[in-house]
Amino acid sequence: MPTVTKRRTASSATAKDSSALMKNKFLRPAACLAVSMQVQIEQLVRLPRKATVYAIKELVRRAGVTTEMFQTWRIEFEDEGFVNVFVQPGTNQRIRFPQANLWFWKELNAGQFRTATAKWMCDPGAKFALVPDFRIPFSSDARKDVGPLFTATGRDCIECPVDLPASTLLTLSRFEETLPGPRDVHGRFSAFSSIAWQNGFLHRPIVDEYGLALEQALSILLPGWNPVERRLRVKIGHDVDEIGVPFSLRTVLGHTLRRKIPLGTLRDLVAPWTGIDTTYAILLRKLVALSLEHGLDAAVYWKAHAPGPQEAGYDLRHKRIQGLVAALRAQGIEMGVHPSYNTFESLERLQVEVSAVRELLGAHEIGGRQDFLRWNPETWVHWDELDLAYDATVGFADHIGFRAGTCYPFRPWLLSKGREAQLLEIPLMAMDSTPQGYMKLSPEDAFRELIDCAARCRTVGGVFSLLWHNTRLVGQGYPVVYRKLLHELAGSERYDWRQSCD
Ligand SMILES: [Zn+2]
Repeated sequence: MPTVTKRRTASSATAKDSSALMKNKFLRPAACLAVSMQVQIEQLVRLPRKATVYAIKELVRRAGVTTEMFQTWRIEFEDEGFVNVFVQPGTNQRIRFPQANLWFWKELNAGQFRTATAKWMCDPGAKFALVPDFRIPFSSDARKDVGPLFTATGRDCIECPVDLPASTLLTLSRFEETLPGPRDVHGRFSAFSSIAWQNGFLHRPIVDEYGLALEQALSILLPGWNPVERRLRVKIGHDVDEIGVPFSLRTVLGHTLRRKIPLGTLRDLVAPWTGIDTTYAILLRKLVALSLEHGLDAAVYWKAHAPGPQEAGYDLRHKRIQGLVAALRAQGIEMGVHPSYNTFESLERLQVEVSAVRELLGAHEIGGRQDFLRWNPETWVHWDELDLAYDATVGFADHIGFRAGTCYPFRPWLLSKGREAQLLEIPLMAMDSTPQGYMKLSPEDAFRELIDCAARCRTVGGVFSLLWHNTRLVGQGYPVVYRKLLHELAGSERYDWRQSCD
């Protein structure tokens, strides 16, 4: 962490007070704020300092600043409501952000916020054609267009017109998903409820794009500086909802009637008696083989739950599954946990399933993804509590895009705890059923959307994270989309979560 200083003693609330207030404020949805929080909000004038420092850290790593370099910096909080980020020891070279005022936080808690647009400081050229401007939800500035995101106001100072750290923190931490509002039949926050979709920027990794603007500003302050190179990395995961064990007549007949693979039906009818692989087991092996053929990684996430009313399931201890796990392990395939439908909002149930998968895999350090992408910001708290290495759930089921405004894996800020998580989040950009089932796109349009999404990840140097099920490698049109996509991504760098993001 860089040095954090305060220019003068704060005249209103101390940093400690503010921190405690923010913690309480985020704990409860707006409906409960009315009585108990009103008085406290009156006293709250800005984001807790450690939250601001966290957000600055997230911004600068997206600008290509290394952790080592950031550690030499100094962050100074002014009483006047500004924060200065001194970027070179012994000099006055700095980036200056205003801090959102009392009214901003008051409005925010009433569910009122605005999105602003900002421009580049200097024309970046055709290389950044996908980033024509910058979009800033939770803007602390009343203007719709705030001008350049960074402006030189002196030889050694570059200023931002908005409290970009606050906007970044609120976007990454999924603040809007803590507010009361509609949820779908599975209790999920819909893409269509999001500020990003409503303001037309769900397809853009807006927080990562701030990094491009900040890199430009830093290059002016630090002419000899070489930012970290931006490279696309790819993370492909396979959630195993079904594997053909236990025998299900519905699934077996579905191979012929719905998926048009009568041989699949035949295979599953004889599999229990002969010991040959089930259709879904073969498809899982095929998915993994496809990734490896294209020089990419595959991660397989296992369930530890029997079939239920909302979902398929299986007994992880079944010898066929044990055999499959052993075979994948021998290939060096990463495996993790796919917590079932009912683990959403239940730490107890999550713990039981995570323990079962850890036992089966013989590994404590695992990641995974929630079934049905049932997730809210408290899910991070549960995963963090169970010491899971990473979550890969944060993407919308009903729309491709950047749910948290980023494709950079990050350690989330836990709003209800007022601290950064140990858990890593690898945000999800798309899953197979999203373009097909939810967005109703033709295979051609789905392919175009997925390629556009990957191109945006490439531009900012993030991780294109994709979910494809073994059950979705059959059917019409879409398996071709997957193969074409792998062809496009072939040879891309794999994302290794074991190499920490900070
Ligand atoms: Zn699932």
